[in-house]
Amino acid sequence: MPTSKLTDTITPKILIPEVKIHARLAELGAEIAHDYRGKEITAICVLKGSFVFYSDLIRKIDLPMTCEFLGVSSYGNRMVSSGEVKVTLDINEPLEGRNVIVFEDIVDTGLTLNYITNLIRARQPASLKTCSLLNKPGSHKVPVHLDYTGFEIGNEFVVGYGVDYSGKFRGLPYIGYIEHGH
Ligand code: 5GP
Repeated sequence: MPTSKLTDTITPKILIPEVKIHARLAELGAEIAHDYRGKEITAICVLKGSFVFYSDLIRKIDLPMTCEFLGVSSYGNRMVSSGEVKVTLDINEPLEGRNVIVFEDIVDTGLTLNYITNLIRARQPASLKTCSLLNKPGSHKVPVHLDYTGFEIGNEFVVGYGVDYSGKFRGLPYIGYIEHGH
């Protein structure tokens, strides 16, 4: 019998309900399709946290696209971003000349997205835009440029809809938050 972990006793509270997420993704998908009309995009999913958001959103973007997956993990304590990013799965296809959009789950300090955009820019795409499901504008430590944002939130620690806490909660259909003290 596995021993009960702290995460087993936590029930996240709803911050953004499922229906609101899907309504926003329909808007974002239409906006992206409009902006890139007549072009093909390379849609990069930043693993692991973006996989649910990404797979729902790409189905709302009516454009020819190729899908790529970039695995990153932060070093150190997951509740505090260290900004040090380790690539755990790289993209093997060339990005040169492609219209690339990076899909992130959360921009908190902005360090991770900056690291990723620098990495991709070095591969000389024709264009590079960024999209994040959640943005925490009050927590940025570096200037962040987001072309598409799902929702702006406060400094809550969120889980669900692909986003984990200690490996848990990725399967929740909504975005929840965990109250301080856990
Ligand atoms: P940044 O480098 O912008 O500080 O952090 C980005 C990454 O930190 C996100 O991709 C995510 O993995 C993690 N992160 C930031 N805020 C939260 C949060 O509220 N909940 C969870 N689970 N992860 C977060």
